[in-house]
Amino acid sequence: MKVLQNYSPKLISTFGNRTYWINGKQVTDYHIGIDIVADIDGVSGFDHILAVSNGKVELVVNDIPGYVDGGSYGNQIVINHKNGYKTRYAHLKQNSVPLNVGDGVNEGQVIGYMGMTGNITAGHLHFEIIKDNIEIDPYDYIFNNKKFESENTNPPVEEPNNNDQVEEKVSSIGSSNKFWINLFKKVKELFNRIFSKK
Ligand SMILES: [Zn+2]
Repeated sequence: MKVLQNYSPKLISTFGNRTYWINGKQVTDYHIGIDIVADIDGVSGFDHILAVSNGKVELVVNDIPGYVDGGSYGNQIVINHKNGYKTRYAHLKQNSVPLNVGDGVNEGQVIGYMGMTGNITAGHLHFEIIKDNIEIDPYDYIFNNKKFESENTNPPVEEPNNNDQVEEKVSSIGSSNKFWINLFKKVKELFNRIFSKK
């Protein structure tokens, strides 16, 4: 998946537990995304941000001029990709998002510019992938070209991972058939006895 327009992405902070220093204090937290800068000939730089997949704009914040304390995303855009996936692009440059909530977005479309807004000490893109409302590690999607799972159009009962349930259903049908066959046999035996007496 391509998230930067002109340069390759360079990872500066990974997903999950991390420890870092800020203002002389050691901080440990759980990072729910990855931080990326543009790699401009080995030097960290800025670039336009691209939508990684088709979707619809769910949230836009565009008016934050700079640093904000308290874990702020700064300017950001959230795109709903409709198959359980959402993506968030944060710390964007003020007024760089050219879209509004409800707008359709195509894969590869420019959706903003990397900035230094929100709770941030150096300019980068904070990128999240949210699958069924849980943030997942975006690394393989950005650096190993992993794709979103395609939208499931089958009802859940037909999914392969529900095999146990299906088997259970089949076996219960089987046993109820046996019940009726046995009952029928018994009734037949009874009739035979009655007729043989006559
Ligand atoms: Zn981050």
